[in-house]
Amino acid sequence: MAQHKPTIVVIGLGSVGSMTAWQLAKRQEANVIGLEQYGRVHSHGSYAGESRVFRAAYHEGGLYVPLLLESRELWRELQVESGREVYLEAGTLSIAQESQPEFQTTLECVRDYDLPHRIFSTEELRKAYPQHKIYDGDVAVLDEYGGGLRPEVAIMSALELAENAGADLRFNTEVLGLDEQPGGVAVRTSQGTILADKVIVASGSWTKRVLPELDELLRLLPLGLTWFMVKDPSQFTPDKFPTFLRDHGTTHFFGVPALDGYSIKASGNPVWPVERDVADVPTEYTPDQLNLLGQRAAELLNGINPEPVRASVHHCAYTPNRLPVLDLNPSERIIVAAGLSGHGFKFATAFGAAATELALEGEARFGNEQFTLAAHFDYLAEHGAYSGTGH
Ligand SMILES: Cc1cc2nc3c(=O)[nH]c(=O)nc-3n(C[C@H](O)[C@H](O)[C@H](O)COP(=O)(O)OP(=O)(O)OC[C@H]3O[C@@H](n4cnc5c(N)ncnc54)[C@H](O)[C@@H]3O)c2cc1C
Repeated sequence: MAQHKPTIVVIGLGSVGSMTAWQLAKRQEANVIGLEQYGRVHSHGSYAGESRVFRAAYHEGGLYVPLLLESRELWRELQVESGREVYLEAGTLSIAQESQPEFQTTLECVRDYDLPHRIFSTEELRKAYPQHKIYDGDVAVLDEYGGGLRPEVAIMSALELAENAGADLRFNTEVLGLDEQPGGVAVRTSQGTILADKVIVASGSWTKRVLPELDELLRLLPLGLTWFMVKDPSQFTPDKFPTFLRDHGTTHFFGVPALDGYSIKASGNPVWPVERDVADVPTEYTPDQLNLLGQRAAELLNGINPEPVRASVHHCAYTPNRLPVLDLNPSERIIVAAGLSGHGFKFATAFGAAATELALEGEARFGNEQFTLAAHFDYLAEHGAYSGTGH
């Protein structure tokens, strides 16, 4: 007799949801239904904006490195299986004053996990990367596993692979609420109700609309992106100008080489306070904000036109300590994979695999006590909700 396969509904087909749908469908152990409020790939989510920085040497701490190494394997797998360019593995260069604590943590990760890397002194840096304005005392580490990810291409690819493996993906279908009942979870949607054995909530910035009990835990930080035209695009290709993080005084900048043949992404610290709902997030920069970002970019980079050629504003759901949420509720029917706190695209693949393991096995390889809802609510009670503007 054929074994009964559970029905598992993935809510949200963005960064984490698309990767979860792919991992879950691949295992062939469940009937997978994916629900997305917008179209197949869109510009409303936290992933929008052409590229995301990948790093394995992580200034946020060694806790993430195993998750990042697994993610890297899965990004490579996604690239091979889809035949699309998902992961530009050209390194990520972190430039800072040597004493900067985040820089020291990056070096610790490199040492503790034996990550392939190169260290640059101030002089070596000036010679190797003339595109950057290097100040006295600036040093750098090139994380050779780092690089650029292409979020829209990655999500399109993961959704396609999920469908090829049998997933039923439904777009323009908004989840309105969840009702746990004996034997399952009723998923109320704009297109009717679906009865699921389990659900995986990967609804990013909208999570509190699906799970109102997380309203106090998650805050939305508006995050903007800016692109600058370069005078000589041949000097800003991935092989010559890797993805970078740059700390200079109080300015934090990150950027990605030219992918369009004429501009680089170079973006600075967030400039808005946190919000509670996506509807309250600003949709564009003011001219003054753009001028300031242009000045900052010109302080850090040579050979750019300091007038942003493109700019866009997005958002991401933050937990109080910027650790993500990955947890299974006590009835073991609802898995939450959210709160990626402005840095989670890079680990969305392994996070999706972990959410899959939680749904199918009840525990995950990358499960961590600190990712549980109980730990997050304890931290919230002690420190309050996220209120910073750190990226
Ligand atoms: C400007 C910016 C720059 C960033 N830079 C980096 C970087 O360089 N490197 C990095 O690793 N990370 C970066 N991040 C963070 C990273 O992009 C996010 O952490 C990640 O994309 C969040 O993924 P998610 O799956 O939680 O949300 P999303 O990718 O937004 O996915 C959520 C999905 O759920 C859908 N959804 C929501 N509610 C419902 C509902 N009720 N019914 C149906 N569907 C629903 C949404 O439409 C969306 O498609 C950046 C974020 C921003 C905004």
